[in-house]
This record gives sequence, structure tokens and C-alpha cells, in this order.
Amino acid sequence: MGNPILVVEDLSKRFDGFTALDGINVAIGPGERLGLIGPNGSGKSTLVNCISGVFPCSAGRVLFDGEDVTALAPHQRFRRGIARTFQIPKPFASMTALENVCIPIEYSAPKRYRGEEIETRARAVLAELDLAAKSGEYPDNLTQIDLRKLELARAIAVKPKLLIADEVMAGLASTEVDETLGLLLRLADSGITIVMIEHIMHAVMAFSERVVVLVAGKIVAEGCPDDIMRNPIVEQAYLGE
Ligand code: ADP
Ligand code: MG
Repeated sequence: MGNPILVVEDLSKRFDGFTALDGINVAIGPGERLGLIGPNGSGKSTLVNCISGVFPCSAGRVLFDGEDVTALAPHQRFRRGIARTFQIPKPFASMTALENVCIPIEYSAPKRYRGEEIETRARAVLAELDLAAKSGEYPDNLTQIDLRKLELARAIAVKPKLLIADEVMAGLASTEVDETLGLLLRLADSGITIVMIEHIMHAVMAFSERVVVLVAGKIVAEGCPDDIMRNPIVEQAYLGE
């Protein structure tokens, strides 16, 4: 690994008395495809929220691209290149797919896009996610997979350095899972570092160069997909799911 793009250092997150994350240490290399797995409630989305700045952490630090971003607001981290999707897509219902993608370009881009440039960029992003034909549709008229693609489009609209995809495949049919996997691999090929959080094991194993396993707020295993699949700790963690 060269200089890591993201370093999470001794990060803990408590909600009142409950410890959702307990001393997380993880570093992600530039261009890496990292899988993050763990049973429901293990703290995966909380970790995303702490990295992206939605939640302040209770202890520890988040370093991005060599800078301590622990105290920065979500939009400031987004401008520096940290993008994430939400487990439940949150498009603006009153805006078309195209308009939804224009928003982050207009308001959050590190570079100042103007006028026509905004729409040109938004159309390019929709095309990148095979959504060009749906640019004039409102979210209500989009299928599940198109909503996931739109969520991804909004996240990558301003060329992030890091994309955290939080269960973008949940509930999709298996051909749609394959399609989404292909899209994420393509985005990774374009140079974006990607953290994939996913329950669909074959997808996360096919995608990841390295997999980190979270159980009850702690990292319990880390390794290449083959080793993780054979690790008894991992099997144990998923029993009863
Ligand atoms: P995962 O994404 O791995 O399913 P989460 O990160 O969503 O898990 O949740 C981890 C734990 O933290 C759960 O027990 C959840 O109930 C708790 N939690 C998450 N967000 C909050 C919150 N805003 N307030 C209180 N508890 C929360
Ligand atoms: Mg979650």
C-alpha cells in the first residue's frame, strides 16, 4: 500500500450508553477495493456516518488524504472527496434524475461548475451509470435498480476520491446485482477508491481485494476474500442471521 487515502484511528462511537463502534483501526490504500461485512447492527453504517461526518465520533480520528478531517462537517468532507451512498436512497422526489445529479455538482463540487457545465457534467455522470435514458424521469417512476444507480450518480457526480457504497445491492434481483457489481468495478477502474458494504456475499467477495469484518462494533477479521470465507470467526458471526 502506498500512502493510505483513508485512515481511521482508534475510532469509537457511543449512543448514550451504547457503544456502536469500539476502537476501530483501518487504513485504505488509494485505488483499493475494500469490502466491509458484518451482521445487521454490527456498526457498518455507523462507521460510514463517522467517516463522512454525519455523526461526530466519540473518540479517535479520521484522516483523509493526509489531512485530519475529524472536526469537519459532511459537506466539507464531501468537497475533499469523501462520497457515500445512503442505505435508503434519498433523491429529491420533485426533481428529475438529471436535476438530482445537478445538485451536488452545483453546490458541493470542489471546482466551481457554471451554467451549462453543470448539466453537461450531470449528463456525463448519468451516462457513466447507464442512466442516460432516464434523465427526465422523476424518482417515483424509477425502478429499484435505477434508484440505486441514481444514488450512486449523486455520490460520484463530483469525482470523489473515495466512495462508500452502503448496501446498494440490497433487494435487487440477481441479474441486477451482477449489473451493479459491474458498475462498481468500472468506477473502481476509473480510479475511485471504493468501500463496498454488502450482505450479498458472492458480490462483495467478487468485488473486494480485501475484506474487513465488523462484529458488535469491533473488527474481528481482515484478509483476502478466500481467507475470510474460510474463517470460522466469520461463519460464527453470521450464525443466526
Ligand atoms: P449496520 O449498518 O451494521 O447494520 P448500524 O451501524 O446501523 O449497523 O447500527 C449499529 C448499532 O448502532 C445498532 O445497534 C443501532 O441500533 C445503533 N445505532 C445506529 N444509529 C443510531 C442512532 N442514531 N442512535 C442510537 N443508536 C444507533
Ligand atoms: Mg447498515
